[in-house]
Amino acid sequence: MRLRATVLLAVAAAVLGLPGAAHAAAPAGSSPTPGGELVLPAGATVVSLTFDDGFRSQEVAARVLADKGMAGTFYVNSSSIGYPAYLTVAQLRGIDAEGHEIGGHGLDHEALTELPADAARRQVCDDRATLATFGFDPRSFAYPYGAYSPEVRRVVQDCGYSSARTSSGLYDSPELCSSCPRAEDPATADTWRIRTSGTTTEPALLRQRVLQAEGSGGGWVPLVFHHVCTCPQEGESAITPVDFAAFVEWLAARGPGTRVATVGAVAGGGLRPVVGTPLERLVAAPPVPPGARTAAFTVAGVAVSQSNVIAAGLVVATGAVVAYRRGTRSRRYAQHTR
Ligand SMILES: [Zn+2]
Repeated sequence: MRLRATVLLAVAAAVLGLPGAAHAAAPAGSSPTPGGELVLPAGATVVSLTFDDGFRSQEVAARVLADKGMAGTFYVNSSSIGYPAYLTVAQLRGIDAEGHEIGGHGLDHEALTELPADAARRQVCDDRATLATFGFDPRSFAYPYGAYSPEVRRVVQDCGYSSARTSSGLYDSPELCSSCPRAEDPATADTWRIRTSGTTTEPALLRQRVLQAEGSGGGWVPLVFHHVCTCPQEGESAITPVDFAAFVEWLAARGPGTRVATVGAVAGGGLRPVVGTPLERLVAAPPVPPGARTAAFTVAGVAVSQSNVIAAGLVVATGAVVAYRRGTRSRRYAQHTR
């Protein structure tokens, strides 16, 4: 909702020629991101804090970021919403209201590359439709397991997203992806295959990923988080709230050359129409105001209410009973007269 307002303001500014228009006002030496929402000074570093899978423990991270005036991107699997350990609709609304971005991650966290095209399409489009039903503006997608193919990219585009994140492709360690770049170039990044380093919850490694981008001419560093809790059972996929808060504190103190922005803000692209069907489990029927009659369905464009259906059913049932009794009576009469 907030992003829609941002885009509208940007469009209005562009039409009116106001200095806020990203494309028009890009100062020399700066690099507009593909969608033009952010203008980064040359050599700047932009960090996107992304959270996968909609775990309930991520709510604390959202609050920590909001307290610092920062926004993250939360990629949600809508079929998990509300189950134990997963964010509820109300919590997601709270996160959205804090200024964060809610993105999609597929209905059921299935590797889309393993699915037939129509099933992959349902996973992506219906997930997005469900998120949109709650009033979110899902522009950004993350491939479950980072599983990418040109076919899956096409599905994500067709479902109306504006970007998609993988989970590898940037420098990780001397052993892993050692020749990979330290950061994406936000001006030329493939926004349908946004790269990241592997997930880490090590504070020193998180800092290193930002420092190595700063030290190699800046760029875009999307970081991936899963659980944010003191929960040893989650192993390497959990960062403690204390470590997370310390990292955010450290980021906030980096100075103007390093900033934090959502994936949607960096990747750009407007909000596109929704394709797909929202998940029935999560989209309850709207409450019926007292005395109001809701249409159960329409016949030739005429709304038919539930009470109409019941009344019609009674008439048909009564008619059937009367016809049956008349029928049996006349058969009995026929038997008697034979
Ligand atoms: Zn995931």
